[in-house]
Amino acid sequence: MSHVFPRHCHKPLPTVVGGEGCYLIDSTGKRYLDGSGGAAVSCLGHGDAGVIAAVKDQLDKVAFAHTGFFTSEPAEALADRLIAAAPAGLDRVYLVSGGSEATESAIKLARQYFVETGAPERRHLIARRQSYHGNTLGALAAGGNQWRRAQFAPLLVEVSHIAPCYAYRLQEAGESAEAYGLRAAQELEDEILRLGAETVMAFIAEPVVGATAGAVPPAPGYFRKIREICDRYGVLLILDEVMCGMGRTGTLFASEQDGISPDIACVAKGLGAGYQPIGAMLCSGEIYDTIARGSGFFQHGHTYIGHPAAAAAGLAVLSAIEDRGLLHNVQARGALLDAALRAAFGDHPHVGDIRGRGLFRGIELVADRATKAPFDPALGLAGKIKSAAFEAGLICYPMSGTIDGQRGDHVLLAPPFIIDESQIEALVAMLHGAIDAVIGNTTY
Ligand code: PLP
Repeated sequence: MSHVFPRHCHKPLPTVVGGEGCYLIDSTGKRYLDGSGGAAVSCLGHGDAGVIAAVKDQLDKVAFAHTGFFTSEPAEALADRLIAAAPAGLDRVYLVSGGSEATESAIKLARQYFVETGAPERRHLIARRQSYHGNTLGALAAGGNQWRRAQFAPLLVEVSHIAPCYAYRLQEAGESAEAYGLRAAQELEDEILRLGAETVMAFIAEPVVGATAGAVPPAPGYFRKIREICDRYGVLLILDEVMCGMGRTGTLFASEQDGISPDIACVAKGLGAGYQPIGAMLCSGEIYDTIARGSGFFQHGHTYIGHPAAAAAGLAVLSAIEDRGLLHNVQARGALLDAALRAAFGDHPHVGDIRGRGLFRGIELVADRATKAPFDPALGLAGKIKSAAFEAGLICYPMSGTIDGQRGDHVLLAPPFIIDESQIEALVAMLHGAIDAVIGNTTY
């Protein structure tokens, strides 16, 4: 009997024993094409010699030293590198162990910032209904995914949710993409005014929505308007780039493509590329200086913040992305993946939308293309497609999301930045086979 507490109590899993480039290998020798990097983690693929060497080298020097006593060379170098590449205004880096810790840190930093500025009543967070910001209670409260939250309500943070920016379902007939972007952003101002600006601390959003929606990019101009609204009312803007950041969309930070800088940004997943668990919260100099001038201490911390071996991995990943020109790969191969998805699913009766940026792509499944009606959630299509694809040797990330009360199914793809053309073709062919096998064998 296994003593591991698995995600699904009744589902035995194969044992992974190896990884090579875009493939994982189990103990029977079966190879799986990693079409989603797990959940957008393995951006360099598996077995990257440079990152492994950097981690080993750091372990030989010193694996761990508590940040209450020491900083370390890799933590300092990683922070410098992140800030050099980050949107203007971000000035300080708080290194953590993953995405939930990054968003949790962001929410607490925003709270503390307003306490220190003498506005403790600013504690309300605004987020979007179609979002996921992590699984700890604060981060879960921020997320708008109802089925993840339901068992844990009431959650711990004062949050309200506005509509996502989700053109496929919410842009009206005859409305331009730009006009829709402005209308979607207007919901933030309306919500701030409804609550009273003096009570609102921050707005949190994923620039390109990942797990809950399947790579949904914002409408043009949406985030510029969001930035203006936040500035007008003194509300902090937190961008959660845990999934879409670190090159996944073709720029190191996804928000670069929207032409804005947040007050706080969160990254993780691709930062360690799976070689070490690491995430980071970046914040503006203004926030840091306020706390430095005030109490002088961020009331937060975890044992493994600033972990030297994890920081060494992050640094090596960023070097690999830069030295090997991998952002160019993401752009070029992302365009190939998009074209392959459109060729395979452009006329598919149950694919309503194909979307994304770079190597962050999604398709949305619908029962009826004309009405956009989602499949009945009771059919559990996402789970069935995941199993059928896995059986065929493809790791992808099908999920059910909640779309303004309706639950719909999508498949998220986030392959390694090193994926080649033939692997892209194999990925799309296996996905096509899995979707057709599942939908063809389902009565709906
Ligand atoms: N934020 C986003 C956008 C995510 O997609 C995730 C994880 O999927 C998280 C936060 C939480 O990250 P982690 O699972 O590393 O805690």
